[in-house]
Amino acid sequence: MGFLQVQDCKDADIFILNSCSVTSHSDSQSSYLLNRAKRENPFIKNILTGCVAQTIDLHKNFDTTNIDLILGNNEKLELRKYIDELFKGRKNKLVGDIFKIKEFNYKIVENPYQTRPSIKIQEGCNNRCSYCIIPYARGNSRSNSVENIISQIELLAKNGTKEIVLTGIHIGQWGLEWGLELVDLLYEIEKTNISRFRLGSLYVNEIDDRMVEFLMKSEKFCPHFHLSLQSLCDKTLENMNRKYSSSDAIEITKKLYDTFNEPFLGCDIIAGFPDESDEDFDVTYENLVALPLSYIHAFPYSIRENTPAAKMKNQVQDAIKTKRVQMLNELCAAKHFEFLKRNKNKIHELLFERKSSKTGVYSAITRNYIKVYIKDNRDDLRNTLKTVNLSEFKKLY
Ligand code: SF4
Repeated sequence: MGFLQVQDCKDADIFILNSCSVTSHSDSQSSYLLNRAKRENPFIKNILTGCVAQTIDLHKNFDTTNIDLILGNNEKLELRKYIDELFKGRKNKLVGDIFKIKEFNYKIVENPYQTRPSIKIQEGCNNRCSYCIIPYARGNSRSNSVENIISQIELLAKNGTKEIVLTGIHIGQWGLEWGLELVDLLYEIEKTNISRFRLGSLYVNEIDDRMVEFLMKSEKFCPHFHLSLQSLCDKTLENMNRKYSSSDAIEITKKLYDTFNEPFLGCDIIAGFPDESDEDFDVTYENLVALPLSYIHAFPYSIRENTPAAKMKNQVQDAIKTKRVQMLNELCAAKHFEFLKRNKNKIHELLFERKSSKTGVYSAITRNYIKVYIKDNRDDLRNTLKTVNLSEFKKLY
């Protein structure tokens, strides 16, 4: 757009913060960064966009004193126009109704910096989990078309990309508006020239038999599942307004383990959800112990104003949340270690990524999401696939 990016706020005319609002911590960080920019340069124009901007009316305590322009998630697509208006002294808040947005806004990326670029296939979510602010920031589900996704993948493949990651807010809702399912898109991706694809986070009961059957036969799918479990206690799942039971989640997780060859099975768990008693947490914990997981991403429940969970009784004390997260982190370390042990002395296909100029060591990634470090004198391995035996492993945490 003709602007020049600078490293220091003191040299900038405009500071644009594309914000995240998934937790209250990310809100505080946004506020801190905006205030800091203004403190360092009182003449700077602060623009807040992204999810905090879109949900600004839901955050009663968010300090907007140092913000010159607030732009919603749809309005940010016309950033240039609004910057011009800002300098003419017009309007300081433009946030439309995100639920009115029906189309998927799409841009082709020609040469991504990453070796494993993300392709956004879907936006928004039709669910209403009681703790989640995301639908108010992103709107209802809408999908990128098969044509757009396939042209993007073919372009990347032509330019040397070997692996892509399919992402979205709720990728299991891809295609709903056309009566299609995610697996219909995957069938098309299987026909492209890309070598590997990985899926973003999945809602467990959207992994049905048809999907498992396809993934099992796919030559391109990387057996890496990130399951959005959140809890494995039925009372807590109901309070969260999740649409599956703990037994559904357990059954699907076990099925994935039995079907694929040492798949990476990661999951998200929220600790200390309102009304989660010690006994409820123990149910989740014991269920997790019994599952063949490779990784647990545990995080404490974070109150999002104006969501049903924020108003629930029996909010859990911070100290208890911290203790539960710590227990889950220890369980995660043990499970990850076991996962690595099971993969030792096995042949894996690696995608080579970055080479450290200091040590000459490449980092690379297996299909089942094991990070591998390899010293090699050659400088041209980035973005290539090689088959290796994993002979040694170290515990990093
Ligand atoms: S499914 Fe995910 S994005 Fe949708 S409301 Fe629930 S937590 Fe939020």
